[in-house]
Amino acid sequence: MKLVMLGAPGAGKGTQAKMIAAKYGIPHISTGDIFRANIKNGTELGEKAKQYMDQGLLVPDELTLALIMNRFAQDDCANGYVLDGFPRTIAQAEALTASLKEQGDALDYAIDVDVPDENIVERMGGRRACVNCGGTYHVLFNPPQKSGICDLCGGELSIRKDDLPETVKKRLTVYHEQTQPLIDYYNAEGILKTVDGTVDVNEVFAAITEILG
Ligand code: ADP
Ligand code: AMP
Repeated sequence: MKLVMLGAPGAGKGTQAKMIAAKYGIPHISTGDIFRANIKNGTELGEKAKQYMDQGLLVPDELTLALIMNRFAQDDCANGYVLDGFPRTIAQAEALTASLKEQGDALDYAIDVDVPDENIVERMGGRRACVNCGGTYHVLFNPPQKSGICDLCGGELSIRKDDLPETVKKRLTVYHEQTQPLIDYYNAEGILKTVDGTVDVNEVFAAITEILG
């Protein structure tokens, strides 16, 4: 199964992608997580990506595409994947379609987790991420059992630098300009499915599993 998660920053793509990956036994591939791991490890790619990420801008397509094509080549992608945060531009979507087509393959679904902008700033303000394993929480909507500590690995939870309100506003503008057009793109491909992302995490997941079977 090959899936793409669509939706605004903070819509819950990562939260749902992790649950999908666990249920269907496919890897969860988040370009944001890969960039953040590179920043943490002080790689050249991380250094380049950070300049854009800290400002709420997209990392240039050529950097992102090189990174993701490399990731697809790894063995765990043989049975599919759930993509979270990629593609984010029409050029990235076209490159993905072309690369799959070359192998006689295609995506199964693009799932749009629909959340209006009004809810996004609140979502991002309460987001906490594990510095160790990337687990995601929300102080009100999805709190960890022990405040500030990851349920999964005991790591420390922190606020993402790009989740500050001013950067979130910029990321929303970038989303509307560059990423939202993908909804029409995948609708035209006939694989778009939209779920209401404003309801409880488990209700969103139930709507997604209804689609995936
Ligand atoms: P994205 O990957 O789309 O940027 P996340 O999955 O990281 O979004 O979710 C953003 C924040 O909103 C996190 O703090 C997460 O715990 C919370 N969240 C995710 N889904 C829901 C939901 N259905 N209701 C309330 N909060 C949610
Ligand atoms: P995310 O973790 O998906 O919210 O991504 C965090 C940041 O990483 C984004 O705001 C971008 O700066 C960068 N990023 C992640 N994925 C992509 C992508 N597919 N294309 C360009 N930039 C990306």
